[in-house]
Amino acid sequence: MYITDFRHILDESGAIGPAKASARVMAQFQADVVANVSNATGQQAPTAPRCFRCRKSTVNACLARDSAIVWTCPSCGVEGRISNWQGSMWDLRDQQVPRS
Ligand SMILES: [Zn+2]
Repeated sequence: MYITDFRHILDESGAIGPAKASARVMAQFQADVVANVSNATGQQAPTAPRCFRCRKSTVNACLARDSAIVWTCPSCGVEGRISNWQGSMWDLRDQQVPRS
């Protein structure tokens, strides 16, 4: 299980930090999961991101009781947990301005 403190994968400007390709793929995937789950509140859920590891299917992601985001891949079984995502660039709750 991948346990991630979302603040640790961002740099000072709030953008994705890791420069190494492998770490970046993982970081981008987690950012997509955060955007997906935070944007789904009260509406139809948009398509979840594809598993970063097997790329076979989209992951199941939801909000845990302690406000962390938990995700699982139904194909390869990889799972993870993301905390401290609130307030990041990918936190789409109460979105006011369309993002480009
Ligand atoms: Zn997978």
